[in-house]
Amino acid sequence: MFVVSIDRDKCDGCGACADACPAGILGMLDDGKADITGEAEECMGCETCVATCPNECYTVTEM
Ligand code: SF4
Ligand code: SF4
Repeated sequence: MFVVSIDRDKCDGCGACADACPAGILGMLDDGKADITGEAEECMGCETCVATCPNECYTVTEM
């Protein structure tokens, strides 16, 4: 399985990750920053979030 983590301190709220994640598990919270808003275990390890985020907020590791 893959585990995605986000460093929210680096997030500037651009929203690109939420639009790009093919699993639909990333979203924007009321504080204007992204977070894992869906079922984290549905992450397929594609690293689209890593490639999309301009601020290097995401890391994806295979467990
Ligand atoms: S690795 Fe892919 S499926 Fe997992 S959170 Fe990132 S974009 Fe979504
Ligand atoms: S792509 Fe990066 S900076 Fe933009 S909302 Fe997502 S985590 Fe935040």
